Amino acid sequence: MYLISPSKVVRGNKAWQNSLDDIRKITNNPLVLGRSKATSKIRSSLFEDLTRNNFNPYEISIQFDCCHEDLENAYEFASQKKCDAIIAAGGGKVLDTGKLLADSLSIPCITVPLSASTCAGWTALSNIYTKKGQFIKDVNLRSCPELLIYDHSLIKTAPLNTLRSGIADSLAKWYESSVTSSNNCDGMVQQAIQISRVLRDQLFIDGLAAYKNQSVDNISWSNVIDANGITAGLIGGIGGEKCRTAAAHAIHNSITQLEPSKKPLHGEIVGVGILIQLSLEANKNKNILAKQSAKQLLKFMRDLNLPSSIAELGIDVFENDNLEKIANFTCREESEIHYLPFSVSPNDIIDVVSEFERNKIAI
Ligand SMILES: [Zn+2]
Repeated sequence: MYLISPSKVVRGNKAWQNSLDDIRKITNNPLVLGRSKATSKIRSSLFEDLTRNNFNPYEISIQFDCCHEDLENAYEFASQKKCDAIIAAGGGKVLDTGKLLADSLSIPCITVPLSASTCAGWTALSNIYTKKGQFIKDVNLRSCPELLIYDHSLIKTAPLNTLRSGIADSLAKWYESSVTSSNNCDGMVQQAIQISRVLRDQLFIDGLAAYKNQSVDNISWSNVIDANGITAGLIGGIGGEKCRTAAAHAIHNSITQLEPSKKPLHGEIVGVGILIQLSLEANKNKNILAKQSAKQLLKFMRDLNLPSSIAELGIDVFENDNLEKIANFTCREESEIHYLPFSVSPNDIIDVVSEFERNKIAI
């Protein structure tokens, strides 16, 4: 089965208001799910809109990342109240929780991203974490969301670090898919890789201008948020699993195991993961172009004030066996690192990451 896209996508400045009729076709008793205090005002206004328009909504806040504890509570609540759809409003972790909850209840999910940090509003995939934010696994869902409401005026209110984090996560599509799948004969996979290259170029062209002026009137900003929340999702949809992730996300997953004191955003870790992937390609696969790509990417990431080393994510790899922990988790059997076209051992990771951290970047 190919799960390419949500059944309907509504985007633009008044996407939420313009979606109320579509929401009515899906649900009468939705559960509005969210998390942070920062989005509580927006979620209250969505809830009021629903009430005013004769829906019978309920609401719940999750406490952690997309984790079993939150999912069990929300499952019980939604079952008790006989909710007939989930409206997940928030960042990637909230959207992942909402999609997985809806899937386990066999009811539709409506996603309302409140930042441009992720393409989770689009995809038929949820990542599960522990309560402490350590990555456990990806879960493939039975469908994409029924409705994606990509409201620019809501996304405009998100903190600026979510925008740059989303840019880094979207850039990973190109760096990961081009290295893992360029010899895949499937035309859909080839087209997904080509789109990820165009997406990367768009982000290089518009990323900094978007970051400097977060406004619905700034065309660069609109281009970038649509790239992060919509185009990146489409690439995952048509490219399938091997187009999604490789070393950058494998490194991300291992870094989340270390529970850094200040918790970085998903894309902030993935950005460092891309640089480490390029260092692996350059050092273990003698890929000269990878060195040039790393230089180009590093400059762009620094312009956006994105972290560019594990130390800048708040973790010293030379303490507490952190290097070994990263190497072992990155190379476990089910890891995406094994999609790389050359083999990588824990010792390779230790070599490259230690050199990367010592020199800031191993290029
Ligand atoms: Zn990601």
